[in-house]
Order: sequence, then C-alpha cells, then structure tokens
Amino acid sequence: MRAKLIVGNWKMNGSRAANEALLKGIVAGLDNARAVCAVCVPTPFLQQCEDVLTGTPVAWGAQDVSMHAFGAYTGEVCAKMLTEFGCRYVIVGHSERRAYHREDSALVAKKAQAVLAEGMTPIVCVGETLEQREAGETAQVVGAQLDAVLEALDAASVGRIVVAYEPVWAIGSGRNATPAMAQEVHAQLRAQLKARNAEAAEVVPILYGGSMKPENAKELLAQPDIDGGLIGGAALKAEDFLAIIHAA
Ligand code: PEP
Repeated sequence: MRAKLIVGNWKMNGSRAANEALLKGIVAGLDNARAVCAVCVPTPFLQQCEDVLTGTPVAWGAQDVSMHAFGAYTGEVCAKMLTEFGCRYVIVGHSERRAYHREDSALVAKKAQAVLAEGMTPIVCVGETLEQREAGETAQVVGAQLDAVLEALDAASVGRIVVAYEPVWAIGSGRNATPAMAQEVHAQLRAQLKARNAEAAEVVPILYGGSMKPENAKELLAQPDIDGGLIGGAALKAEDFLAIIHAA
C-alpha cells in the first residue's frame, strides 16, 4: 500500500513571522500521523523551512523551477539552487503557472526533468478547465498533459515523480470534485503510468488537489487511486492542514 502524501501549496502567501507559527504548529500537531507531509513555499522562505523543519518529519519544497541549469535568465531559480536549501519536492505545471505564465506541457516536461536531474521529486500538476470538462474533454486534456511529461522521461524516472490531479475549476473555488469524479480521473492517470512502467505505476503517488479541506478530505482520500492531497487554502492554517493529514 502506498503511504498517503499530503503537500501544502502556500502559493504567494506567508511572512517570516506567520510562517514560524504555522510550521511549528504543524510539527507540534503531527503526533503519530501516518501520512507523509510536506510544504511547498515561496522561494524566499526556503531557508526558514530548512531552519525550522530540519530533523522533523515535515519535508519542504518549491512551487516552480527554471528549465535551465544556470546562466542569463534574470528572475529564474534553477533546480541546483533549490537543493542547497534542502528541497525534496518541486511543483511543476500548476494551473496558475499554465494560465498566467503561459507554461505549456513541453515546458512542464523540461522542468520535471530539471528537478529529477538534481535528485528532487517533481509534483506534476494536470487538470482540466470547467469549459473542457463540460465539453467532455477531461480525459483527453489530462491525458495529454501527463503524456508530455512521461514521454520526456526514461522508464526508471517515471517511478520518481508525483502526479497531482487538480481540476482548475476546483482550485480555490470551494467546489471540490466529488470523490467519484476524482477517482475516475485518477484511475485513468494510473493506467497511463502503468502503460509506461507497470512497476512504477504502483509507487507513484497521485494526489488530488482542488478545495480539499478537513470536511471532505476523508472521503476523497478513501478512494483507491487517491494517494494524497495537494492543499492550497487549507494549508495556511495549521489546524486545517493537520486535520487533513490526520484524515489520511
Ligand atoms: C492548489 O492551488 O494547488 C490548490 C489545491 O488550491 P486550493 O486547495 O485552495 O483549492
């Protein structure tokens, strides 16, 4: 059985003072949680994560990375730099980056490769818009998004990624996918992973993201192919994040 993985995506939120309380609150409330957990924070706060979380069960990571290794790319941060702050995870292809920064699946695949090359785990986000769901295009859209990454990886590396299914219409909207809707997409993603590398498909966590909160986490996480959650809003309050961790 895959251990559940709960990852907080803080997006562009936080301050040094608030982070200290949040991170310490999460660590204090973990007790004997069975789930593996991590927080993906804005880059300037990675040092603080390393300071507060080293030696605790909570891992940390970034929310984006450059596809380039080094050089004249003003404003960008490369994977190697992230390793210097102890990052274990890097989110790639979040729908907010696809929408606001015009990131396409080819770029997301290159970012996933850059993360893997430095020994970290990319959390590869896929998801359809409401318009695409209503047009019956969900399977095709998320399938193509995942395929772009899988095709760029050698078969062994497939087992080193995390996939996050995040329907765009569910993100930050308070409207989560029903457990059945999410399970249907997760099963498709699992089959896709299996077609590429059957063994890896058994170990790759497929997270659900999109308005997961304490009230709906248990039911979503009970689905056979939902291996955890990528949590936005509810990751900003220790109490809510912990409730999700303990529901897993
Ligand atoms: C996210 O942005 O990854 C996310 C899942 O957000 P929320 O939980 O707020 O919907």
